[in-house]
Amino acid sequence: MRSSTSVGPADNLVRLLLRRVNCLVDEVCRQYNSRRISLMEVCGTHTMVISRSGIRRAVDRRLELRSGPGCPVCVTSQEEIDAAIALARCPGVTVATFGDMMRVPGAAGSLEQARVAGADVRVVYSALDAVGLAASERVRQFVFLGVGFETTAPTVAAAVLAAGKRRLTNFSVLPMFKLIPPALARIAGASRVNIDGFILPGHVSTVLGAKPYQFLAQQYCKPCCITGFEVLDVVQGILMLLEQLAKQEPQVVIQYRRTVRPDGNRQAQRLMSRVFEPVDAVWRGIGPIPDSGLAFRPKFRGFDSRIKLGLTGTARPIGRTKRSRVACRCGEVMLGVIMPPECRLFGKACTPEKPVGPCMVSSEGACAAYYKYEQ
Ligand code: SF4
Ligand code: SF4
Repeated sequence: MRSSTSVGPADNLVRLLLRRVNCLVDEVCRQYNSRRISLMEVCGTHTMVISRSGIRRAVDRRLELRSGPGCPVCVTSQEEIDAAIALARCPGVTVATFGDMMRVPGAAGSLEQARVAGADVRVVYSALDAVGLAASERVRQFVFLGVGFETTAPTVAAAVLAAGKRRLTNFSVLPMFKLIPPALARIAGASRVNIDGFILPGHVSTVLGAKPYQFLAQQYCKPCCITGFEVLDVVQGILMLLEQLAKQEPQVVIQYRRTVRPDGNRQAQRLMSRVFEPVDAVWRGIGPIPDSGLAFRPKFRGFDSRIKLGLTGTARPIGRTKRSRVACRCGEVMLGVIMPPECRLFGKACTPEKPVGPCMVSSEGACAAYYKYEQ
């Protein structure tokens, strides 16, 4: 066990659990005759907690904690950013988005660069804020960027219903949602990286519950633990995964019981599936994954920005060179194939001030977390 950790000295429970974790790492490695155990934290917030608190440095070296595709900013494809920029450049159109999308590079630069060049791009805190803007400026078309996972999709569905109720004809959504279970199926079935267990995202699971992950335990024999966001939660989640590995009984357990119910939030699930239906989606750096995105159901297609505003073509380049994008290895970082420092741009051509890939842009991105806390 490495000794240096920034886990607070008063936190005896964390220390106790870490000791137990390290005993189990030893036990599991011997049992499986393995040199290492790889666990994937799917959610970007877990990545931040692990890096910031020093958990990685506190656990036995044989336990690898790899980042997954759980940051909404990182997985938004270049084409989706390009489409958003193309819409923002249309006269009379305003693009409303969460602030962390502003600096994500597309083929044609970022939304921030488009704004500097004269496009009307505004930062909002929720989809309902965008509905409010549309209600107050009826002469402009407002496009809300529907990014994120099962956590945000129900709130966007609610905003669409609210806009419908108010008969707003100048509000639409560019759907860019991603669904977590199909991405995990891709990772669990990949031969390039062997993940032994999943630290599952707390907020997504608040909506989904535990059932949609059962296939990971049943079909792929991967232990799973739905985990909260405190340091204690994460360490306990790791421990619960190691216990499953030691017993050779993979299942989906819930550490984050104070928030997550086995059936999830049925109301949010109903809302989401009333407005949206699953479609194939392209994940940045990863490629297309079947049924891993959401599109409007036929009844709500009038709210789809692509249809409503007749989006065709892509934006003209205003920024970055092609060469740096080719070297970006964000896809491999998000699939757990490499750790951020293994990308040759890490900390050199790619820093949080001048990010090349989205994993360095997002505050929840694995590369940004490593850069800030683990160098
Ligand atoms: S929305 Fe919540 S669960 Fe999803 S990536 Fe962000 S913090 Fe994690
Ligand atoms: S260091 Fe930069 S370019 Fe490399 S994988 Fe991370 S974000 Fe992408």
